[in-house]
Parts: sequence; structure tokens; C-alpha cells
Amino acid sequence: MTNPTERCLFCRIANGDINARKVYEDDKVLAFEDINPQSPTHVLVIPRRHIATLDDVTEADTLIVGELVRRAAAIARDQHLNSEGYRLVVNCGEAAGQTVFHIHIHLLGGRTFGWPPG
Ligand code: AMP
Ligand code: ZN
Repeated sequence: MTNPTERCLFCRIANGDINARKVYEDDKVLAFEDINPQSPTHVLVIPRRHIATLDDVTEADTLIVGELVRRAAAIARDQHLNSEGYRLVVNCGEAAGQTVFHIHIHLLGGRTFGWPPG
């Protein structure tokens, strides 16, 4: 069976096979600019370890999921998005718009957002 790391785009970014404009990294979490930004700030925050969708998250992933949210908020603060407000989005599954099956939080900021989302 093929290891997901070899064919998953975000695993390949995490292990350095594919370049990205990184804004943060540590041994568990990586954040980089979205290649097709939907707002002036559009950063993706991912775990280095492959988890396909939010539906695959288990109790063992509680810490890493918390780290992703905390890191997204820290980046928002670093980029001074916190005073105006910003949005975090996780698309789970194709109908919700997920196109890369390695979980990621979209950090969107720098403009006003409508509700409900499209
Ligand atoms: P989603 O549609 O929620 O799965 O989000 C996937 C995101 O990954 C989209 O916003 C894409 O623009 C973004 N994306 C795809 N390929 C790359 C890449 N090579 N580097 C950075 N972002 C990417
Ligand atoms: Zn992956």
C-alpha cells in the first residue's frame, strides 16, 4: 500500500518535497500561505502528521487539533488581524469544498466576510 506521505500534497509540503511560503513551523505544525488566496491574508495551518479529514480525527488527535487552532489564533495576532476580526474555516468532505485530503485550517483575514458562507 502506498504511504499517504508520498502522494499527499500537504505531506509533501510538510516534508519539503514541494515549496511553500511558510509563515510558521515546529516539529508538529506547519503554516504556509495559500497558493490561491481568498482574502488579503490566507494561511493554511496543518499538522505534519497525515490526517485526511476532520471526520478522521480521534481522541488521540485532541492535542494536535488544539495546537492547530491555537497556532492559527497566534498567527492572526502576529499579523494584527485580531482587532478587526478574522475567520477560521475547516472544510470536511467534497460537498463542503475540501480539495486536499490532509486536514488544514484556513486562516482568512484582512477583509469583511459575509454570513452565511457560500
Ligand atoms: P480545501 O479546498 O479546503 O481542501 O483547501 C485546499 C487549499 O489548498 C485551497 O485553498 C488551495 O488554494 C490550497 N492549495 C492547493 N495547492 C497548494 C499549494 N501547492 N500551496 C499552497 N496552497 C495550496
Ligand atoms: Zn498528508
